[in-house]
Amino acid sequence: MKDAGGQLVYRFSAGRTDGRAAMRDVLGGKGANLAEMARLGLPVPPGFTIATAVCRYLDEHDGTHPPALAEAVDDGLAAVEAAQGKRFGDADNPLLVSVRSGARASMPGMMDTILNLGLNDETAAGLAQHTGDARFANDCYRRFIQMYGEVVLGVSGAGPANPFAAKLAALKAAFGAEADAALTAEQLARVVAEFKALVEEHTGDPFPQDPRTQLWGAIGAVFGSWRNERAVRYRQRYGIPREWGTAVNVQAMVFGNSGEGSATGVAFTRDPASGERGLTGEYLANAQGEDVVAGTVTPTPLARLAQEFPALHVELRAVADKLERHFRDMQDFEFTIEEGRLYLLQTRDAKRTGPAAVRIAVEMHDEGLIGEATALRSIPAESIESLLAPSFDAQALGEAKRLARGLPAGPGAATGRLAFSSAAAAAAAEAGERVVLCRTETSPDDLQGMLAADGILTARGGVSSHAALVARQLGKVCVCGAASLVIDEERRTLSISGADGGDVLLREGDAVSLDGGTGAVYAGTVATSPSEVRRVLAGELAAEDSAWFQRYATVMTWADARRPIAVRANADTPAAAAEAIQFGAEGIGLCRTEHMFFDDERIDAMRRMILAADEAERRAALAKLLPFQREDFRALFATMGERPVTIRLLDPPLHEFLPVDAEAQRALAAKLGLPAALVDERVQALSEANPMLGCRGCRLGIVYPEITEMQARAIFEAAAAAQQAGAPPQLEVMVPLVGFREELADQAAVVRRVADAVMAETGEQIAYHLGTMIEVPRAALTANEIAETAEFFSFGTNDLTQMTLGLSRDDMHGFYDGYVQKEIFGANPFAQLDEAGVGQLIVEGVRRGRSVRPDLKVGICGEHGGDPASIAFCQQAGLDYVSCSAPRVPVARLAAAQAALHPSKPKSARVNS
Ligand code: PEP
Ligand code: MG
Repeated sequence: MKDAGGQLVYRFSAGRTDGRAAMRDVLGGKGANLAEMARLGLPVPPGFTIATAVCRYLDEHDGTHPPALAEAVDDGLAAVEAAQGKRFGDADNPLLVSVRSGARASMPGMMDTILNLGLNDETAAGLAQHTGDARFANDCYRRFIQMYGEVVLGVSGAGPANPFAAKLAALKAAFGAEADAALTAEQLARVVAEFKALVEEHTGDPFPQDPRTQLWGAIGAVFGSWRNERAVRYRQRYGIPREWGTAVNVQAMVFGNSGEGSATGVAFTRDPASGERGLTGEYLANAQGEDVVAGTVTPTPLARLAQEFPALHVELRAVADKLERHFRDMQDFEFTIEEGRLYLLQTRDAKRTGPAAVRIAVEMHDEGLIGEATALRSIPAESIESLLAPSFDAQALGEAKRLARGLPAGPGAATGRLAFSSAAAAAAAEAGERVVLCRTETSPDDLQGMLAADGILTARGGVSSHAALVARQLGKVCVCGAASLVIDEERRTLSISGADGGDVLLREGDAVSLDGGTGAVYAGTVATSPSEVRRVLAGELAAEDSAWFQRYATVMTWADARRPIAVRANADTPAAAAEAIQFGAEGIGLCRTEHMFFDDERIDAMRRMILAADEAERRAALAKLLPFQREDFRALFATMGERPVTIRLLDPPLHEFLPVDAEAQRALAAKLGLPAALVDERVQALSEANPMLGCRGCRLGIVYPEITEMQARAIFEAAAAAQQAGAPPQLEVMVPLVGFREELADQAAVVRRVADAVMAETGEQIAYHLGTMIEVPRAALTANEIAETAEFFSFGTNDLTQMTLGLSRDDMHGFYDGYVQKEIFGANPFAQLDEAGVGQLIVEGVRRGRSVRPDLKVGICGEHGGDPASIAFCQQAGLDYVSCSAPRVPVARLAAAQAALHPSKPKSARVNS
């Protein structure tokens, strides 16, 4: 158990601060940067940060505070009171504070915030008196009751179902007020009274009037929000450990809603969508920060500030420059203007789209702000994929019917079926549909739906709303604030009046297309065309005509110069292999030969082979398959040239090639001229209770050596032909699912015998390596025995994970969500390597393998080969290469370079030592 001793509270105020930017672990990102801004002399309202250690302590002590916390918070508050010349709870001139979360890694919108804390009936009257503005005081009070009611007292609900929103809407209707800003002081006083009654009705207690009770309630709730469902999901998605905890920031309020000379906004030092240099953002006059972030109203572009508050616009630009130069990264900062005075409430490294991340890294490097290593580190490896994403086909777009236009908030082109709830989006995506999640406004609870969707469409909210931020970070296409849309989430309809061609009504399941670059929303499915980078790679566009390609190429050149590990692709066809080369693959790490059998013409021969009554029939069927396989391999070798090609022998259980339903089986019998009863009998005989642990992998070739013989013959005849044509392949033959050295020895003998025969027949000496996949835990634990035969290993971490965790790779849906919610998995183990378990087997397998064969080549070809965290682990574990799907190759190249910039020992190795 942690004891949460040491300093628990860190103060900051302009010029005086206990913290600094480097203390993110202790202060969270927000607290650390507030301290740093205070240190830089920027206008930061005073406050204090409660350290992340307190969050861990609460987690481990059932919510009990560390003993020293109360006094430390009192001292912190006293310092804020002194700095502001106001007292907390003072009936005449009260100090009000905000209580905000702030974890080490930014998690926008995932945790809770409370503003205007310290207001009660008395202090609200005092505030009105002191400012001479009863409207302002009542506005603050009603906002506070709502936020506190939702976050601390649990009086909540999404969208119109939110009791406060419903009450406010009813009152506004009764008052005949359209916007909040139109409410008078008296009307707002009525809102306050009704909100308090609402709280009492829901909780059974009056709204708490004691400011200290309010403060502790808020601190507890904000710490508690570290464990709310959306925060847990977000942490899972981004691999943020639960132990990190959040900090809590308590800070003196400044008021963007204190009249016409006041405003609040969010600014970016560069454009977060395109990466273009220059101040962008948006603001709302006479409003509080939550209004901008929540996306409930659509704010004004920051450029307008230059007209409304010209001096402040100049000041803001100077702040932006200072922040960027100091933090050496693009910043996203929140500001408030209180009666003409600028305050900074937060700054952080800005979330940005994948393309923007690349552009900003390259341009900041060219501007001399950062070096190559920092530039490389600043690009989330996965974001490189978005440069390779499709955009709309220009011609199809010309013919498309535009329904509406919103704000371009996450670039790219998305086409999919409408879903009006997170659950509907997730269900449709699960069923293999492409989905556009359509909401009036998104709330953080929509994360699941946003993850499932290709595109996100909202009727409200600006480019810094939650929907926009999260979409960009997820690399999703997003159009927000499309105000002409009327979305009825209950009826599941989207209506647009006055669209091109008249009124339109769409229902759930109808197709729409979003252009995240322009904000346009189109009816139906609009064809997409490949990315600019892809077009250059495919030779359709000249490199010098594409600035995006040049940036991509610069980053890839930097990455390749720094990565010690090779990157190959999993590819089964010449087309996939050609694409992989374009993406920079240095070879094929896995060719799954079974994928070559699904073609119409071949599947019959394959099925005939499977249904054969005896070896002679089987050999006859295999003889028909041989020319197909040989031709496939010949084409693959021709494409890959001198690059290594790892061909895996047949792996899946044979029943996978047979139709499942009885009718299709009868049709197959008729087509092949076989008795239906025989097909039925063979299907029965092949059926297994647990096929993934049944007759598959090397077991197939051991039971039916003629299958391995045919495949080996096809491989070596193709290799001989390539060699005769002057292009000898770099051939690696791989045996799957080996657990015993005897299994590998058996299959190796077959392959070598056939290789020798083909060499004798053709007169070609063919160089090749024979190795195995390590997919069975026993193989990793006896790798020294297996390496006596195997000349290389490739870790098949899909099966290795399945078998090590005793977890079916195909049946996780039944319990995965429950596991995520309880944080039993740090991340999905089939996406990100389970370092402590499967990782140990890798480390041990490499150690044992190289103990008998020091030059043993080792790679990974499971899905983890394209996952940045897993790549870092593989590199540290001493692997020679990773192999992943072709479009992940650039991601893997960058991730490998980044891993080389952050060397750390693999966790499992640490456990062992
Ligand atoms: C693996 O198990 O990791 C692997 C690459 O093989 P497959 O996914 O084909 O079972
Ligand atoms: Mg496998």
